[in-house]
Amino acid sequence: MHTQTTTSNSGTKTTIPQKFVYFFAAGDSEGNAGMKNILGGKGANLAEMTSLGIPVPPGFTISTEICAHFYEAGGKLPEWVRPSVLEAMKKVEGKIGKKFGDISNPLLVSVRSGARASMPGMMDTILNLGLNDQTVEGLAKSSNNPRFAWDSYRRFIQMYSDVVMGMNSSLLEVTLEDLKDEKKYKLDTDLTVDDLKHLVKKFKDLVQQMTGRTFPNDAYEQLWGAISAVFHSWNTPRAITYRELHNIPAAWGTAVNIQSMVFGNMGDDSATGVAFTRDPSTGEKAFYGEFLINAQGEDVVAGIRTPQPITKVAAAKAGVPSLEEAMPEAYGQLVTIYKKLEGHYRDMQDIEFTIEKNKLWMLQTRNGKRTAKAALKIACDMIDEKLITEDEAILRLDPSSLDQLLHPTLDPKAQKTVLAKGLPASPGGVHGQIVFTPEDAVEWKDLGKKVILVRIETSPEDIAGMIAAQGIFTTRGGMTSHAAVVARGMGKCCVAGCGEVEVDYNQQTMKVKGYVLKKGDVITLDGGTGEVFLGEVKTIEPKLDSDFERIMKIADKVRKLKVRTNADTPKDAQTARNFGAEGIGLCRTEHMFFGADRIDAVREMILAESKQEREKALAKLLPMQRTDFQELFKIMDGLPVTIRLLDPPLHEFVPHTEKEIQELAGRIKYDVDKLRSKVKSLHEFNPMLGHRGCRLAITYPEIYQMQVRAIAEAASEIVKTGKKLVPEIMIPLIATDKELELLRSLTVVEVEKVQKEQNVKFDYLVGTMIELPRAAVTADAIADHADFFSFGTNDLTQTALGLSRDDAGRFLGSYVSSGIFARDPFVTIDKVGVGSLVRTATEMGRRSKPGLKVGVCGEHGGDPDSIEFFNSVGLDYVSCSPFRVPIARLAAARAALLGKKLH
Ligand code: ADP
Ligand code: MG
Ligand code: MG
Repeated sequence: MHTQTTTSNSGTKTTIPQKFVYFFAAGDSEGNAGMKNILGGKGANLAEMTSLGIPVPPGFTISTEICAHFYEAGGKLPEWVRPSVLEAMKKVEGKIGKKFGDISNPLLVSVRSGARASMPGMMDTILNLGLNDQTVEGLAKSSNNPRFAWDSYRRFIQMYSDVVMGMNSSLLEVTLEDLKDEKKYKLDTDLTVDDLKHLVKKFKDLVQQMTGRTFPNDAYEQLWGAISAVFHSWNTPRAITYRELHNIPAAWGTAVNIQSMVFGNMGDDSATGVAFTRDPSTGEKAFYGEFLINAQGEDVVAGIRTPQPITKVAAAKAGVPSLEEAMPEAYGQLVTIYKKLEGHYRDMQDIEFTIEKNKLWMLQTRNGKRTAKAALKIACDMIDEKLITEDEAILRLDPSSLDQLLHPTLDPKAQKTVLAKGLPASPGGVHGQIVFTPEDAVEWKDLGKKVILVRIETSPEDIAGMIAAQGIFTTRGGMTSHAAVVARGMGKCCVAGCGEVEVDYNQQTMKVKGYVLKKGDVITLDGGTGEVFLGEVKTIEPKLDSDFERIMKIADKVRKLKVRTNADTPKDAQTARNFGAEGIGLCRTEHMFFGADRIDAVREMILAESKQEREKALAKLLPMQRTDFQELFKIMDGLPVTIRLLDPPLHEFVPHTEKEIQELAGRIKYDVDKLRSKVKSLHEFNPMLGHRGCRLAITYPEIYQMQVRAIAEAASEIVKTGKKLVPEIMIPLIATDKELELLRSLTVVEVEKVQKEQNVKFDYLVGTMIELPRAAVTADAIADHADFFSFGTNDLTQTALGLSRDDAGRFLGSYVSSGIFARDPFVTIDKVGVGSLVRTATEMGRRSKPGLKVGVCGEHGGDPDSIEFFNSVGLDYVSCSPFRVPIARLAAARAALLGKKLH
């Protein structure tokens, strides 16, 4: 690309892109849908729509690259940007036949944000720009509609003063509401020309008073201010919070779209609306949307008036007139266009439109956000419609979103008191204590409480509170309101627009049907039906539908990685099998030690003074462990089961408070003083690196001997019934091949002893965790004694980075926000560092023992991005918690497809 350089104020050299303003208009667009990186999603799709012959008001996009220049210049629009903008504005004027700032027939524009990834409502947009005390008169005359002109002007002042001048917009809103009360008006549309003129004057005075600045009258001054404000809105706290939540890099920046206005507020033959080509909540193939007559776009999104359904069918249910009936001609155009858009993008679209005097204009299209349930249904339907292939369906789905489906839903048989019914904006069944501010939601969440955020309507400032809440409830706004769209994006339960309920922020109450609920009272939301219940309603395990099963089957066909589960109890094992686990990758035996009926026997074993005493205590544990393993083997029915021998340091099992020590001493008849000093002697300064894992068995071999015996005896029982079984015995925290050599032979001796006693033969594997860097880099020697490796990526991350997960909380956040770590390394594997240990160890291990089975059993085994990495390394399986098994199956399939694409 041709570039030129300039020297900025700060003296650093800046490279100016040769082209950074892209025009769009029917048959004359410079951009297309493939250019999202520089045009942002909105700009790219506006250009694409013009090429499809869809009516879009002409305009132009300032590229996302300029966002970086804007911040580099200290939050100012560099001078060199202006000429290209002016040139493009001329071109728009030519298309429309009106001039920007012209007194008799002014061109008005909107200035709109638009990033690469859609961030609904998180950034700013200004409408009706170009209006001032002179042009408003011109617009009144040229449109022959003074009411419309002055309504547009007062809207413009409200938005501009808020977005550009940093004025608290609620002051102007209150002024408007006061005037309506005084005049006994119900709706904004009741305001007369004189009212609006009065408001405009009053607004400007208030702006002067509050900001100390005069509202700019010059159209170009307005334009530069608005462009800067949109770039600024990339870095507002709410935008930053949203980006962090959705892993959107700060470096992407936003584009700015400047577009000639079309007007939905010209009277009863005008309207504005938002629609989805399919139902974003259920996925049903039905056009779904909402509109407002005589209104501008911000009215719909902000939920100031509750919009009406677009289609006759949906409106009939609500008992209100539809767009289909009110404006049949425009409705017809809308239907043609939405079908065209869906066919073109081959995905469900979220569209924004305005009707000006019965003529339809499209203002936005994007792939619509949807719930996980809707995503699966749409994917399956589109496969059947031959719109997409099975592979495409898999690549489109977000594995993490499946989490939403795996959580409990309200029990239909539970006793419940219905308080009210709103719109089912985003599904799920949740309960919590009600709070009325996002701040309270965050604070209470931090105290460990479950909260439901109750608002009249939400706005982008509420985002942190929405994240903290279990569910969101609003009394105003429709299915396309901010609350609904954002909740669906987060997979969070939301009931919206529940007008029966009266919310009072001052009193902090919600009133309905004679109930007055205060902050802290518990309600339950059903986001699938829109119902709100008093108190907590019982939940039941989720039922997975046929779309889910079908997608999972496709995923299983495609993936290479096997998916096992981490399960310590029969219940976990059963859940995981139901979710499609192909074995147990990690059974942590210590969890079996903590059981109320056995912990004292474990303690006797720890407190034993001699090998003999220890063996006596272990003998009590043996039958219990044997039964545990038998149950697991039975449930897994021939699938591989990896059992890890005891891992944690012994002090974890002994009591620590004086009271507990006294009680235990009494119970097991042990001297209190001796017990106290024994507990003290077990204390470690750094237990994570202390006497744990295989180190326990180097000093007390009888512990592992007992566990191996329990496994072998349990296996014998199963094998005797004629079933096949290959238990996998796993030894943790190996650092050297010597340790493994020793413990392997201990294991082999014990298994063979049992086999002889029981007179059975079965195959079994002895392997190790790779969770210390030394083990990873000497994996060839270790593989000599191992039948399999399983990466314990949690410990491997801790030891490779030299940071403890339990203490890192204090600084890890800063490391992520300052970009030192791209992601939290305990959530997504650090590919470059820890990942290269995984890769190295796998290669070395397989070189020394071809065909060595290698898996992952850390938390990362359920993280989609980490799974993509493990797939690329060529591991055999990942193992994750039962509820993540479906997520891992889908993620493994995506990884396989993405891997294929690369080759
Ligand atoms: P967001 O990204 O928050 O959705 P938009 O830039 O899409 O913000 O603007 C919000 C709404 O403002 C649009 O849906 C549309 O209704 C209205 N709007 C934006 N530009 C125009 C325009 N040129 N003419 C008429 N309405 C517009
Ligand atoms: Mg929009
Ligand atoms: Mg470990």
